[in-house]
Amino acid sequence: MLSLGIDIGSLFVGAVLLDEQQNIVRSGYERHHGEPAATARKMLEAYPLADVANAVRTGSGAGALAMLGCDAVDPVVAGVEGVRKLVPDARNIIQIGGGSFSLTRLAPDGSYQRSAINSACASGTGAFLDQQSLRLQVPPTELADRAMRYDKRPPAVATRCAVFAKSDMIHLQQEGFTVDAIAAGLCVGLGHSTVDGLLSGRALTGKTAVIGGVAINSVVAGSVRDKLGVEVVVPENPNLAGALGAALVAGARGRGNGNGTAFDFSPLFAGAGAADAAAEDRGALRAPLELKLSNYPDFAWHRHWVNEDGSEIAVVEPRSGAITVSFGVDIGSTSTKAVFLDREKNVVGWIYRKTAGNPIRAVQLLMKAAQEMEREGGFAFDIKGVGTTGSGRKMIGALIGSDLATNEITAHAAAAVFIDPNVDTIIELGGQDAKFTQLQNGMVYNSIMNYVCAAGTGSFIEEQSLKLGIPLADYADRAMGKACPLTSDRCTVYMERDLDLLLARGWNREQVAAAVLHSVRDNYLNKVVGGLFIGDHIYFQGATARNRALVAAFEVELGKEIKVSRFCHLTGALGMCLLVDERIPEEKKSASFKGLQFAQADVHVDYELCDLCNNNCNLSLIKTEGGTLAWGLKCGRDYSEKKVKVRDNPTFEWWRKRHNAWLSLAPAKQTGSKQTGTKGRIGLLQSLGTYGYYPFWKKFIEELGYQAVQSPRTSEGTMHAGAAITSAEYCAPVVASHGHAVEMLAGDRADWLLVPYMMREPTPPGFTDAHFCCYVQAHPGVLEAAAGLEGKEKILSPIVLLNRPEAETARALAKGLAKLGVSEAEALRALRAAKAAQADFAAASLQLGSEALAWIEARETLGLVCIGRPYNTLDAGLTLDLPRKMAALGYPVLYLDMLPYKYADVLPEFANMYWHYGQKILATAAYVAKHPRLFGVYFTNFMCGPDSYILTYFKEIMNRVGKPYLCLQFDGHGADAGYLTRVEAALESFHSWSKIRRPEVAAVAD
Ligand code: SF4
Ligand code: SF4
Repeated sequence: MLSLGIDIGSLFVGAVLLDEQQNIVRSGYERHHGEPAATARKMLEAYPLADVANAVRTGSGAGALAMLGCDAVDPVVAGVEGVRKLVPDARNIIQIGGGSFSLTRLAPDGSYQRSAINSACASGTGAFLDQQSLRLQVPPTELADRAMRYDKRPPAVATRCAVFAKSDMIHLQQEGFTVDAIAAGLCVGLGHSTVDGLLSGRALTGKTAVIGGVAINSVVAGSVRDKLGVEVVVPENPNLAGALGAALVAGARGRGNGNGTAFDFSPLFAGAGAADAAAEDRGALRAPLELKLSNYPDFAWHRHWVNEDGSEIAVVEPRSGAITVSFGVDIGSTSTKAVFLDREKNVVGWIYRKTAGNPIRAVQLLMKAAQEMEREGGFAFDIKGVGTTGSGRKMIGALIGSDLATNEITAHAAAAVFIDPNVDTIIELGGQDAKFTQLQNGMVYNSIMNYVCAAGTGSFIEEQSLKLGIPLADYADRAMGKACPLTSDRCTVYMERDLDLLLARGWNREQVAAAVLHSVRDNYLNKVVGGLFIGDHIYFQGATARNRALVAAFEVELGKEIKVSRFCHLTGALGMCLLVDERIPEEKKSASFKGLQFAQADVHVDYELCDLCNNNCNLSLIKTEGGTLAWGLKCGRDYSEKKVKVRDNPTFEWWRKRHNAWLSLAPAKQTGSKQTGTKGRIGLLQSLGTYGYYPFWKKFIEELGYQAVQSPRTSEGTMHAGAAITSAEYCAPVVASHGHAVEMLAGDRADWLLVPYMMREPTPPGFTDAHFCCYVQAHPGVLEAAAGLEGKEKILSPIVLLNRPEAETARALAKGLAKLGVSEAEALRALRAAKAAQADFAAASLQLGSEALAWIEARETLGLVCIGRPYNTLDAGLTLDLPRKMAALGYPVLYLDMLPYKYADVLPEFANMYWHYGQKILATAAYVAKHPRLFGVYFTNFMCGPDSYILTYFKEIMNRVGKPYLCLQFDGHGADAGYLTRVEAALESFHSWSKIRRPEVAAVAD
């Protein structure tokens, strides 16, 4: 008799049938598209089930086959059993499946020892690879082949989180990297982050088997091999190891009917079609998706066709002869669009196509489609004025010679006002970005973009449509009218997990498709809109508005009419036609435009690593007959100049001076040999609790007779070093701090490393307490526990309670510095001097702030206040040097300690704000809210616990006076384009607000 093992994962069903000698008689592996039971049924129909005596199921979705009544074994157990058969001498198993990855350790005799699984947020899974494949328009099975075609150093892709990976990939597209290069960066990064996530710096010994669906990807498996540095074996059919293990368990334990007769599979086949009926009876909590208040347009109102390249082409009005038009192009992360607008502002035609990870190719195909449109329409375009928008606006703009490259929010708003001058609210869900825009009198006075997270965007819907096997074109029809259960709106990872759960519980695909739309809508309303006023003239823009059911999801929730234009998917391109008409003088239009014949240009992309400074920019050199366009030069140097460009920027002056003041009081940057006359070198980390307190600690160390030295500035290497030893998933500043510790303890940089337990600041009157974040408080202990951190014995960790009487604080300091033989009296003297040094620095910073404010006032310009903790706002290595880049746009940047904010302004309302930096942040917010010329830019971090609500309070303070703001969320990854788009868009709304809203706020403030 035979034994069957069946493995139901979040994406695939795997089955293995064994004979009594444990030979594989039959096996199968199929994507289930949200229908695991139906897929298993179909698969097993062809199996000799009458000969099967035993069956065992496994996998995260094993519950979907509960009707069989056979045993379910844990996926880890099944994996171990499978590997024992396939790689008998393996000591470790790395299992990378559709929804999770894990590490299992085996004893020398092959018995199970322990295992660790990824956290909910880690993304090195098959579902993650699927999502990214979709973005690149490369089938998941071909991803490794494409990656192998790229033979240079793979560009960095942040694979720790799907959201940031997408962001990095878009950035690489904008830089001209090919799909092969991005695929290589993705696969290598995924292998590395899987190992980092599972090992947290610990070493692995012994032969390691890599199994699971992702192990089929040879580049991911190779990158795991490189990172581990031990013998790694990928067995044949690694995707079936779990099913094989389950079959072995079934055979060994006789998990069938128990009497050696054929196992009864009839409940599986009797269940066919029952799931849908059952699902209807569950009492769905979400109302059916219906459009009752909104008039939805007919998109088939004009002639359009899809050409052989997949470009959707539309001729709106039949014309003949030459037509003078402006040409707007929107190069988005997932789609590229064009509009041709004549001089009477009629849309002559439009084109819509996938970007497919290659914006240059997309634009060439778009221009080819425009030539086809001319031929088919019997007219010729005389293009006068070219504008680009979208994430690829700058690179493509430079390549085709556009007249204007503008951020998407401005472009979309221009189109919305053109379509309906009364519009007061724009909801926009693009492929990667979600935006919410408020307008008054045709002007944008506030615009918000999702930080980076793509949960509330079109790409998530597209990914789920693929997973559910529902073509995007049918999605709305299938979801319309469907009621469904509640699902998470928190982030893609949690949303997706809920959806998997629904499928496993028997909800049908249509109901799950409807649930996806509710989740996306809720995520958008909670995370992007966040309580802002939603008007009565609401336009829904972006290609997602072509999904009628998603529009219905908004109508159902808001109870208002949602207007959708026939051009909803083209508003970026349409807006650029309007803006180029309005902003570029006629005689200058199309001066450098390459013409539609750019479609046939021979474009070749090469790569080069710049070694002129330690930024080591990964440059792309886009070569055409017309010359070479170099892209990705962070300093902005001309490619022909072979030296780093030093920029002189007056609006950065006060920030720079503050930094210099901090440096003069801070420890010496060099970490060289011991200065004569000192007792030794004590190192400080340029991170977390010590970052904002350099003047304090430098003075303290010097008063004790030592030389203070500091870790180098945060770099990519710092982040890598930190990620390799962190024992859990932390925010980027904590990861960076681990890296600083590695760098400081390596070699002979310092004799000691001072990492204090920074606990509390004195509580300002009116507040209940003043703590540092728990990660900051516990940091020395976490470092001590970090496996792989060499030289820990050098760490000195006194407890610092600045809220206690000086004598008590000094006693704790002396105790923590016992290894140095510091007495309480010495500690007390050093403490007093340190406090004075910190106070001097604070005064110097305030003075610089008052000079900056006077400058702003005198010039009647705007100022940008960077609000956040010093270690995540002032560290250029973590913020991609964004304050400097913001200043380069022409506006002074200030840090919060340069302003004379008052705690009283947020009391008694926020008396329970017990985070020290939270108090500063909210008080600064209150100051900025009242100031007519200052605008707040909040610097936060992915996974920051305190900010999850401090940010809400910050928004509340701003929303009360209707003042626009900008929030930027960082995660230590390398792409700045998305952030700059947000900054540029925010600046436009700051300006508009100043024109139309400032007088009102001034009245309120008075
Ligand atoms: S910043 Fe400039 S000089 Fe430095 S690596 Fe990049 S391109 Fe080269
Ligand atoms: S406050 Fe936020 S960013 Fe700072 S250490 Fe804590 S979690 Fe990280």
